[in-house]
Amino acid sequence: MTSKAQNKSAASAPVELGSPSARQAFRRRLLSWYGRKRRNLPWRDSRDPYRIWISEVMLQQTRVSAVVPYYQRFLQQFPDMQALAAVPEQAVLAAWSGLGYYRRARALHAAAKIVVAEHGGELPRTAAALRQLPGFGRYTAAAVASIAYGEPMPVVDGNVERVLSRLFAWAEPGRDAAWSMAGQLLARHCPGDFNQAMMELGATVCLPGEAQCARCPVFRWCNTRGRGRPKKQERRRAGHLHYRLAQRDRAVWLVQRSRRASLMPSMWELPEVAKNGAPADLTLRHSITVTDFMVEVSRGEPPSGRGRWVTRAQVEALPLTGLTRKILRRANFI
Ligand code: SF4
Repeated sequence: MTSKAQNKSAASAPVELGSPSARQAFRRRLLSWYGRKRRNLPWRDSRDPYRIWISEVMLQQTRVSAVVPYYQRFLQQFPDMQALAAVPEQAVLAAWSGLGYYRRARALHAAAKIVVAEHGGELPRTAAALRQLPGFGRYTAAAVASIAYGEPMPVVDGNVERVLSRLFAWAEPGRDAAWSMAGQLLARHCPGDFNQAMMELGATVCLPGEAQCARCPVFRWCNTRGRGRPKKQERRRAGHLHYRLAQRDRAVWLVQRSRRASLMPSMWELPEVAKNGAPADLTLRHSITVTDFMVEVSRGEPPSGRGRWVTRAQVEALPLTGLTRKILRRANFI
């Protein structure tokens, strides 16, 4: 803990958040901090439900810095619900290529078609109605309803859960307790800002590793103040992958994953081959969920089996796996 935080800590015991007036003071403080300190992110300029929805879906399991360029490109390509609903799924997957978790993109596209066909192109205005659409779980429905439409619904993501468990020094943090407490703390007159402020606090101050308590706007109500145990690091596995990079006449040999594959179905990738002992032409690291892969790529002829030659121009329109896109960039193909 920094000396500034120690001074804060020494100066006052935590204030209880049990009374309505204490909760009101907490909300005011958090909202004022959010108004001054929030990051300037492209989706925060807009109240358009469509744009808010796209950002919320992209931000699931993906870092803000990685999302920003995808978000901007995606909106150039599909500026509104009608544009998204009108294109084939492959075009949406191609635009999503590299963001990962492609089930999100399929659900997004399926939901857009339903919204156009059954809701006149406008997203329903309540979390309960949103949850009837593909891809809207408890979090996404509440986030879109509160931020776009001002419905007084709390949200809990990993950031909010961590902030709450530290604020209240919960020995056993849990999602249900966090949802209930987030609902009690919620600023009902501006739920969208309040929800974003809680998430922003977790993303920029009450960090997963070391909490930055000296900068924390809600320090006076916090029961741990940096003494909370950091969350255990996720145990990661190691793996190896070998791919063949076959090129001819400015085209590359790609194969399509099965429609029934549990991971990235129907997406295009370089053919995977057995390691043959020869030194690799390219090596790189790549992480998929909890596994860190060492990836080796060897140039040569296409292996036998299904596949096709794809030109550079065609590659841009195909839904590639993130790893294949990475390899083709490294190989200066795209
Ligand atoms: S940053 Fe520190 S003071 Fe603020 S909520 Fe997190 S642990 Fe508490």
